[in-house]
Amino acid sequence: MSSLIDLHSHSTVSDGTLTPAELFQHAFERGIRVLALTDHDDLAGLEEAAITSRDLGMTLINGVEISVTWNRRTLHVLGLKVSSTHAPLLAGLAEIRAGRHARAVGMAAGLDQIGIAGSLEGAYRHAKRGIISRSHFARYLVEQGHAKDFSAVFKKYMVKGKPGYCEHRWASLEDALDWIIGSGGIPVLAHPGRYDLGKTNMLTLLHEFRELGGKGIEVVTGSHTAEMVPHFARLAHQFELLSSSGSDYHGPGQTYTDMGRLPDLPPGCVPVWHDWPEAVALQ
Ligand code: AMP
Ligand code: MN
Ligand code: MN
Ligand code: MN
Repeated sequence: MSSLIDLHSHSTVSDGTLTPAELFQHAFERGIRVLALTDHDDLAGLEEAAITSRDLGMTLINGVEISVTWNRRTLHVLGLKVSSTHAPLLAGLAEIRAGRHARAVGMAAGLDQIGIAGSLEGAYRHAKRGIISRSHFARYLVEQGHAKDFSAVFKKYMVKGKPGYCEHRWASLEDALDWIIGSGGIPVLAHPGRYDLGKTNMLTLLHEFRELGGKGIEVVTGSHTAEMVPHFARLAHQFELLSSSGSDYHGPGQTYTDMGRLPDLPPGCVPVWHDWPEAVALQ
């Protein structure tokens, strides 16, 4: 069942390398029938995704991945089944995108200082349709020969303490959840295994997330190891959260896993799609 559904993916509207139409075509070929497009802080790909998914006989789940600052850390919250016309969501995302531009200017200034010129323009050349992100800077730096691949370039330039990193304040967890819930969507904590929070902070986060109206966590996702999956399945159970599954696909040869290759949710998980008519129809 999980192999037919993928609830986390990116297109050229954020930092993916396939257009929404190409992404759906690829998903279809990989056997996916229900796909959430969850671009970072932007809904601009949903219209094109709706057309292609209809042509292919697939189901599009309207989604977004919102950047959040919680206790001085960056978290990502997925909004699944959001409305693309809810004014507070649209305004909130527009504000995050404006902040992304300001951060990009800061990142380029940091790189300038170590003698790497032109990175703002270079990154924007890779970001044609929507948001600007560290991924676009990373592509520019690899293209210019400053590092051999994506993972090396992040380590060397784009993480905390490195010259291309710029401290930034994203949306609050409360605002992000309010926008998602207000638009009729389902808030899901993305890739909890990537936050390096420690046990106590993770429990505090999950408690707060639930109190604020959070509904699910990603138990299965491209960046989770085999050990993380049962761990977060147990936490989902403990906090009475639904379980989600999504590749976090960014395009061919990009980080994380391809579509259609994720393991099933562990037994006992209640899938976030348990009461979705479009998922039930697949059975
Ligand atoms: P941003 O939201 O601009 O900070 O960019 C974050 C994006 O960069 C993530 O969504 C990933 O696609 C990518 N990313 C973050 N860390 C890494 C890493 N260590 N290696 C490769 N890609 C990464
Ligand atoms: Mn990304
Ligand atoms: Mn993410
Ligand atoms: Mn993602």
